[in-house]
Formats: sequence, C-alpha cells, structure tokens
Amino acid sequence: MENFDAIVVGAGITGAAIAYELQNQGQRVLLLEKHRQPINATALSYGGIIYWAGATPLQRQLGHESRYRWTHLSQELGGETEYRELELLLYLRPEDDAQALAKQFDHCLIRPQWVDRLTAIAIEPQLSPDGIGGGFVVPQGHCHGGKTVNAYLQAFLRLGGIVRITEVQGLITKQNRVQGVHTGAGNFFAHNVILAGGGQSLALLPESGINLPLYFTHAAVLQTVPTQENLRCVIMPADLQQRPNLEALAPTLDWHRPDDHCVATVVEPGAVQFFDGRLFIGQISQLVTSPRYHPDLAWAQQQLQTAIAKILPRLALLPVTAHHCLVAFSGQTLPLVGEMPNLPGLVLFTGFTHPLVYVPPLAQKLAHHLTVGREPVIDHLAPLLNPLQTEK
Ligand SMILES: Cc1cc2nc3c(=O)[nH]c(=O)nc-3n(C[C@H](O)[C@H](O)[C@H](O)COP(=O)(O)OP(=O)(O)OC[C@H]3O[C@@H](n4cnc5c(N)ncnc54)[C@H](O)[C@@H]3O)c2cc1C
Repeated sequence: MENFDAIVVGAGITGAAIAYELQNQGQRVLLLEKHRQPINATALSYGGIIYWAGATPLQRQLGHESRYRWTHLSQELGGETEYRELELLLYLRPEDDAQALAKQFDHCLIRPQWVDRLTAIAIEPQLSPDGIGGGFVVPQGHCHGGKTVNAYLQAFLRLGGIVRITEVQGLITKQNRVQGVHTGAGNFFAHNVILAGGGQSLALLPESGINLPLYFTHAAVLQTVPTQENLRCVIMPADLQQRPNLEALAPTLDWHRPDDHCVATVVEPGAVQFFDGRLFIGQISQLVTSPRYHPDLAWAQQQLQTAIAKILPRLALLPVTAHHCLVAFSGQTLPLVGEMPNLPGLVLFTGFTHPLVYVPPLAQKLAHHLTVGREPVIDHLAPLLNPLQTEK
C-alpha cells in the first residue's frame, strides 16, 4: 500500500500544473495519467492566453498574475513553453455585422481594434480577400500546450514527484472521506485526491457530486506537418458567442444517461502555427453526452478543409491528420476549483473555459490553500462546488 499527500488524476495542463505546485510546496505527490503520450485537449490547444478578455475584477486580477507568471514560467520550470506575445486576428465574413460583433468586447479589459479588409490582409497575408470583411485585432499571450505540460512534468519529476501511467477506475471512499483511487496498477492512497482529468473527470465524480456543473464537448482539429506556409497571427472567427451558445445547452441534458446523440455542432474555421512550423486548423465542437462518442474524422476533416478554404485557402491544401478530444467546461464564468464541501479528501481542478490564462495562477493558489493556509480566491470559487448553490 502506497501513501501520498496528494494524488492528481490527469496530465493535461490542469493536472501537470497542480502536481508541480503541490510538490513545490513540499508535498509527496503521485500523478496518474492513463496515456503515455496523451493526445488530450491541452496537446491540441491553440495555445492562446487571452488576458485581454478579462471582464470581472477577479478575471482581471488573475489575468494580471498570469501574465507575470507566464513571463517567468519557462525559466522557473527549466523547460520550453514557447511563450510569446502573438496577435489574434478575429475575422469577419463579408456578410457579418461589425457593429453587432464589436459589442461582445464591451466588457473586455482590452478592446480588440477594428481593422478593415485590406488592413486585415496586410496583417495576415494568408487571408483570402474574398472570404473576409475585416477583422478585430488584439495582442495576446501564446504558448505551446503540450510543451508547457512537459515543462511542468519535468520540473515535477526533478522535485521528486512520481508519475505512473495507469487509468484511474474509481475513488476509494471510507467513512465518508475519499482516501485514494483504484487503478489498473493497484490501489493508491493519499490525504487528497485531485481530479484534473479534463472532460473525463465527470466519470469519476461520486454520487454526491454528480449534479455539479461539469460538462464536456467533443472537439475535432486538424494538424499539419511542419510547413513552409507562414501564418503570422492566430486566426479565429469574430463571432465568439457560437461555442458559449452551444455550451448553454449542456445543463438541459441528462449527463447521467449518456448517449451518442449530437445535440449541436459548431464549426469555427481558424488556424495557428507553432515554432516548428506545424499548424493546427480547427475547430469543430459537438455537444454529445457520451465520453465514448467518436466523431467521424473523415467528415470532420472535409468540413474543416472546406470551411478554411474560404478564409485561408493555401492552408486547405496541406496534408493533415485529424484528431479528436474532450474539452471540459463548467458553463459558468469560473472553473470548479477547491475541496468538495460534502466529501473531504476530494479536490476538483477542472472545468476551465480559458485554462491557459487561469491555470498557472490558480494552481499556485490551490497548492498554497491545501498546504499552507486558506486562499481567499479559492474560498471565492467554493460555492461552485456546492450543487445547490451554483449560479451563473
Ligand atoms: C482545438 C482547441 C483549441 C483550444 N484553444 C485554446 C486556447 O487557445 N486557449 C485556452 O486557454 N484553451 C484552449 N482550448 C481549451 C484547452 O485546451 C482545454 O480546456 C485544456 O487543455 C484542458 O486541460 P485539462 O487538463 O483540463 O484536460 P486535458 O488536457 O484533456 O487532460 C486531461 C488528462 O486526464 C487524463 N485522464 C482522464 N481521466 C483519467 C483517468 N481516469 N485516469 C488517468 N488519466 C485520466 C486524460 O488522459 C488526459 O491526458 C482549446 C481546445 C481545443 C480542443
């Protein structure tokens, strides 16, 4: 029987960051991940760190802390995150209403600036003159999701943390306290079990937590090999309400009886390029309650290539591999972070809508909260973990 201070389930950005921060606080931490080389939401992420979008005082405070943290993260972890500032260009289709779309930025910390069609093309020459009607531009942080996880994990291991590749099959609960986990490699015990399994965290929630607002979408994205085609900006559609509109349907569904019925689909043609020349071309999001659903990737590829051909025509010609992953969300502006009030020993760190902004500062605060003393921000998030008190 092995005993730890904390067991972290999942090695995406949430699991890797909280495992590192807890080990850094002197805890003995075991990180459990079911895939040796996971193709998870973090690995397929565009890498955008949207400090500019902070609308509430809490989001702005965390955005400010995040920016500082990202600037120093690579150095602290001793590994590459590919952090940089990169322009985000939110394009309009010719038929879109620029004034109506500009309203969605009313509460943002930094308002993306309107540029007409010719200026948008001067900023990003890959854009098709026929496919766009202008755009909004704003600088944002940018990283490589997979490399950032790797940097966190290498630093975690150097501090003495332990990683095991095995699937967590369930929680071990005794005397109304979570005491460990069952896995294919045996049982492991700890003072705290931290669920950071992204879209698959829902499957591990005990009965007492099943009404929490934790959902997922199925995402499909295309990946190219390193290419000579050069993309200067992150390109996304300007209508940022499409996915929130799809996510708003989640509370109306029965997540306890999952099925393969696709309730809604959103296609957001966009692209991003990383330092090695690879591009991600995305993204299709589907609301389906079964975690086992697998989209038809040939269909997804055809949809995305047809859509991207209108906006970034040269990228539509590149050879690609289509991938699928689950993306967790809470349907609230805030994630599910902290101790389950009715089940000691269980801690949630999941359901982030913009994880690359909020995970680095909140992982630090949660680790401090669990080991040193209460953190007001974590207390502020606690009501979301009480199914009776959840609010928009
Ligand atoms: C195309 C695309 C673009 C995106 N762009 C951005 C962006 O620009 N900015 C941004 O902030 N966010 C973006 N996101 C969202 C972001 O990538 C995800 O929300 C985030 O990476 C989720 O991290 P995670 O750690 O919660 O989950 P994941 O990265 O999915 O990791 C969860 C891990 O847990 C493991 N796991 C689950 N269950 C178990 C179990 N029972 N036992 C063992 N291991 C388990 C899984 O194998 C997986 O490796 C994007 C997402 C997609 C798909």
